[in-house]
Amino acid sequence: MTPSLSPLATLVLATLVVTLGYLVTCVIWPFKPCRACSGTGKRQSPIVRAFRLCPRCTGSGRRIRAGRHAYNLTAHRRRRRPRSRK
Ligand SMILES: [Zn+2]
Repeated sequence: MTPSLSPLATLVLATLVVTLGYLVTCVIWPFKPCRACSGTGKRQSPIVRAFRLCPRCTGSGRRIRAGRHAYNLTAHRRRRRPRSRK
């Protein structure tokens, strides 16, 4: 006899697995390539052979993932906790 899960339990389990997978991905790979410049960090002029730094990624060619950004916000909040004085 095989144990069977209800459809709701299967949905909750799948959501949990996907969420945990995304969190692990945000910890291991916090950045993704900038979509505006395709990760090059440059915006090419359409007429002449000139370029400027991409304003969205400020020339780095990378963007921080949304999940990692949220984690960094909470980490910043944790660090600002007042120190206890003796
Ligand atoms: Zn960019």
